[in-house]
Amino acid sequence: MPVPLRQDPGMEPFESRLLREIERRSEDLVRLTQDLVRIPTTNPPGNLYRRICEFLERRLAAAGFECRLIRAVGSPGDSETYPRWNILARRDGTSPGECVHFSSHTDVVEAGHGWTVDPFGGEVRDGRVYGRGACDMKGGLATSIIAAETFVSVCPEFSGSIEISGTADEETGGFGGVAFLAERGLFHPDRVQHVIIPEPLNKDRICLGHRGVWWAEIETKGRIAHGSMPFLGDSAIRHMGAVLEEMERYLYPLLAGRSTAMPVVPEGARQSTLNINSIHGGEAEPDAVHTGFPAACVADRCRIVIDRRFLIEEDIASVKSEVADMLERIRAKRPGFEYEIRDLWEITPVMTERDAPVVRSVASSIRRVMSRRPAYVISPGTYDQKHIDRIGRLSNCIAYGPGILDVAHQADEWVGIQDMVDSAKVMALTLSELLPRTGRAR
Ligand SMILES: [Zn+2]
Repeated sequence: MPVPLRQDPGMEPFESRLLREIERRSEDLVRLTQDLVRIPTTNPPGNLYRRICEFLERRLAAAGFECRLIRAVGSPGDSETYPRWNILARRDGTSPGECVHFSSHTDVVEAGHGWTVDPFGGEVRDGRVYGRGACDMKGGLATSIIAAETFVSVCPEFSGSIEISGTADEETGGFGGVAFLAERGLFHPDRVQHVIIPEPLNKDRICLGHRGVWWAEIETKGRIAHGSMPFLGDSAIRHMGAVLEEMERYLYPLLAGRSTAMPVVPEGARQSTLNINSIHGGEAEPDAVHTGFPAACVADRCRIVIDRRFLIEEDIASVKSEVADMLERIRAKRPGFEYEIRDLWEITPVMTERDAPVVRSVASSIRRVMSRRPAYVISPGTYDQKHIDRIGRLSNCIAYGPGILDVAHQADEWVGIQDMVDSAKVMALTLSELLPRTGRAR
C-alpha cells in the first residue's frame, strides 16, 4: 500500500498550486466549451456522436488517457445513419487504487426558437459561454476534463485511476449511453468506485439523486355510434372524464399532502406529483392536409398517459395500486365503465447517503474553494444516475457541475465562466483527496 507523501515543509501547499494552475487554464476551459458547443449533437435524432467522440479522443489521448469508442449497437435509435457512439477514457496512476469517474452526456436537445445568438456558435459574452448544451452539459464535460488534465499534470504520480466518459442519448433516456455501458459492466463497483456526473446543478450544490418515475397508459372503453344518437353508444371520453374527476377529487390532494425527507429542488417538487402527459379520445386528429369536418361519432376509446413522480418513502407497488384501486372504485359505481392500464416504464428513486465518500470529498472541496457550505439537493427528474445505480449497482454517485439548471433546454442557454472555473477547482481538489499522491508533485 503506497503511503502518500507529506507536504514538503518549505514548499507551497500542493492544493494551492493545483488551484492556481486551474485558474491559469481558464481560457483553455472556455475554448474547450466553445469547441464542444460547435458540434451540434442534437438528440433526437442523435447527430454527430462519432465526431464529438473523436474530438474528445484526440484531446484526452494527448493528456495520456487510453480511449475506447463504443457504439451502442442495437440500442433504441441506433442506426447506420445515427449510430450511438460513446467514449470511455481512462488514465491509470502509478500504482493501483480507486477509480474516480466523470460521466457526461454529449447530446443536447434541439435549439428551438427565440435565440438572440447562434445556438451552435459558442459565443462568449459578459463572462458567459452561450449555446445549446453550454449549460446542459458541455460546460460540465469541459470542466471535468480541465480538472483531470490539471491534476495529472501537477501530480503525475498518484494511486488509482481517472475515467472520463462522453455518452449518448441522456436526453432520450440514456439507453444508448450510460445504460449500455453499465450493462457491459463498465460501472461495476469492482472497476469504478466514485462517480461524478457534471450535470448543471450549481457549483455549490451536490445532487444526491432523484425521485422515482412511473409512466403508464390508461385507456377507457366505449362503443361507437352515430353522434346524433349518443344514447345508442357509450362514450369512452365521458368515462375518462370520470377518471379525471376522481383524480382531482381524490388523487391530487392525496399526493400533495405527502412530504419527504428528500431535499428536492425546486421546492414545489418536494412531494409526490402526477402529470397527465397526453389525452387522446375518439377520432384520430386529422392530418394537416385534411380540410373537411370531422364525422359524427361517439368515442369508443380514450387514452391518457400519466407521469407519476414518487418519493423515497413510497414504494412502486403502492404507487401503482392507489391508481388501480381508484379505477376499481369508479368501475364499482359507474355503469359500463371498462378500462385497461398498461405500464410504460418505471425508475426507482435514488438518494446517495450524505456520508458516502464521494459526497464527503466534494463537500469539503466546495468548502475550501468557495468558503461556503454545500447545499444537498435532489433532482425532480431523473438523469443517468438511475442506470449507474440500478444496472451498475454503484451507489457512491452524485451529480455535481457548473451551470444553472433553470437555463437548461431554454433559448439563449449559457454557462458562467467563473462557475466553470470554480467547479473545476472543486473537481481537481476532489481528485487529489480521493487519489493519494505517491510521489513528489511537479
Ligand atoms: Zn443533462
